[in-house]
Amino acid sequence: MTQNIPEKVLNDGLKVPAIGFGTAWYKGAEGVKVLTDAIDTGYRLIDLAFNYENEGTVGQAVRKSPVPREQLLISSKLPGRHHAYKEALETIEESLYRGGLDYYDLYLIHWPNPKTDKYVEAWQAMIEAKKRGYVRSIGVSNFLPEHLERIIKETGVTPSINQVELHPLFNQQRQREKDAEHGIVTESWSPLGRGHSMLENEVIGGIAEAHGKTPGQTILRWHTQLGAIPIPAARSKEHQAENLNIFDFELTEAEMNAINALTQEDGRLWDQDPATYEEM
Ligand code: NAP
Repeated sequence: MTQNIPEKVLNDGLKVPAIGFGTAWYKGAEGVKVLTDAIDTGYRLIDLAFNYENEGTVGQAVRKSPVPREQLLISSKLPGRHHAYKEALETIEESLYRGGLDYYDLYLIHWPNPKTDKYVEAWQAMIEAKKRGYVRSIGVSNFLPEHLERIIKETGVTPSINQVELHPLFNQQRQREKDAEHGIVTESWSPLGRGHSMLENEVIGGIAEAHGKTPGQTILRWHTQLGAIPIPAARSKEHQAENLNIFDFELTEAEMNAINALTQEDGRLWDQDPATYEEM
């Protein structure tokens, strides 16, 4: 693991770096280049998904990289259309074939899709996938507190990670508290708001300047101090390196509060409330 990135230990013992790399937009030969750059820069936790259709791209980058497979943490996700037990297991097997990998380090249920209401079945399949050695650690994404409580109650198995939309406009305080109560680590998707103007926000800009850092670094540092793992995507090698360089400064409590104050009740950027939004 890269020397200057702190680690977190998940509730099943898996050690993961405090920051990862998002890959939703990277595919094909160009995607392999972005991924090999990212691994070369020092990222070890790579977030992907069956639905990003880039498991092959990530697998190719893993094979091309001089970094040994066991030093990388490859994390994929089960799509909503394959929540039925047998289909879920077949999908995880298909994920492995697509990636050309023997195992995934992490596998998450991508969305709970509560109207479809098959996420408990999907969770049972994830438990079986871990038993079979397909995945080392199982988690969820976009699960609200009620979804977490239900899978834990019905199976007795607690997810290791919950990956949710989290950025300064939507700091997910209640969700983070609920995750923590269960010993679940929160992971932040779209941690920089995917190109949203929050990178030009005056409050964030002022704090960045005070520390001699960029707005992007300031936001990512805020995530880590909240206890969440951000997974920023970055095509540019400069952004990739910049985003890893966040462990040599600390935001004060007042600065943390000032960023938290930017959060809005309806701060989700794409209107994707997991209580109603379904993604197949
Ligand atoms: P993001 O990471 O918030 O933002 C990525 C954008 O920010 C890119 O346009 C990138 O530009 C730019 N950027 C990166 N570092 C920067 C910096 N230091 N300064 C200025 N701009 C910077 O958005 P995201 O890709 O939506 O989210 C990250 C990952 O979360 C995804 O890739 C995916 O893996 C995951 N995700 C999961 C879900 C889910 O439902 N579980 C949903 C959405 C996303 P360049 O490319 O030009 O460098």
